[in-house]
Amino acid sequence: MSQHYDLIIVGGGPAGLTAAIYARRAGRSVLLLEKESFGGQIATAPKVENFPGFSAISGAELADRMYTQAEDLGACIELEEVLSVQPGPEITVTTDYGVHTCTALILATGMKRRTLGLPGEERLSGVSYCAVCDGAFYAGRDVAVVGGGSAALQDALFLADTCRKVTVIHRRSQFRGDPVLEEALRARANVDVVLDTVVTGLRESGGALTGVCLQSTVTGETRELAVDGLFEA
Ligand SMILES: Cc1cc2nc3c(=O)[nH]c(=O)nc-3n(C[C@H](O)[C@H](O)[C@H](O)COP(=O)(O)OP(=O)(O)OC[C@H]3O[C@@H](n4cnc5c(N)ncnc54)[C@H](O)[C@@H]3O)c2cc1C
Repeated sequence: MSQHYDLIIVGGGPAGLTAAIYARRAGRSVLLLEKESFGGQIATAPKVENFPGFSAISGAELADRMYTQAEDLGACIELEEVLSVQPGPEITVTTDYGVHTCTALILATGMKRRTLGLPGEERLSGVSYCAVCDGAFYAGRDVAVVGGGSAALQDALFLADTCRKVTVIHRRSQFRGDPVLEEALRARANVDVVLDTVVTGLRESGGALTGVCLQSTVTGETRELAVDGLFEA
């Protein structure tokens, strides 16, 4: 059994690291537990342009600064996955490395990735959820991005720098993401925007994605689009 903490925070994304900074400044002993990589989703953002104080900063650098700030303030930060939590006057947190106890617990575990639910999605090479991680594999090739929020727009902008063509597919008639990102995207010559359209199937050859089946949500019309990569955002 390790040391007892005033506060244990589960999740080392922006929310968890922020909580650690505030709690340390309030004089609490803090253990922050992260299962994968510090910074959470923001660490994969190519460019963050809405964080006050930075006109533009890479997500990785922003994550690094948050981590350093929490660590410099004395937060104990460990790479451990929280497997279970036992409530009580003394909360018991079990991880893949051991057991910790605390008086208060903050769950800052972020979101769960949403998939399209299509056959082959989990198995096929060519289906990705991270443009920053996998985009380089598709340099000079044709890809599609599915989604309508800022993450999708950012992914498409990032991919447009190196891919031959990027098709952005969104099920609604308008994007939900930042208008400034949409404006930047529409100015790119190698980006096609396909609205009111859903992906209904994946085409493959030998375990690799070769295209996507599309259906208009307005007319019901179907068609296929040949792509080497599909980025789900
Ligand atoms: C490509 C991309 C670009 C983006 N760009 C921007 C942007 O420019 N501006 C902006 O404001 N937002 C942006 N976002 C959104 C932003 O990253 C998220 O809103 C933010 O990361 C949410 O922070 P969070 O701490 O709540 O969750 P997350 O970032 O999801 O962090 C949760 C953390 O909890 C960890 N975790 C989960 N379960 C456990 C467990 N059992 N044990 C231990 N750890 C666990 C996860 O590994 C993860 O690191 C972007 C997102 C993406 C994907």
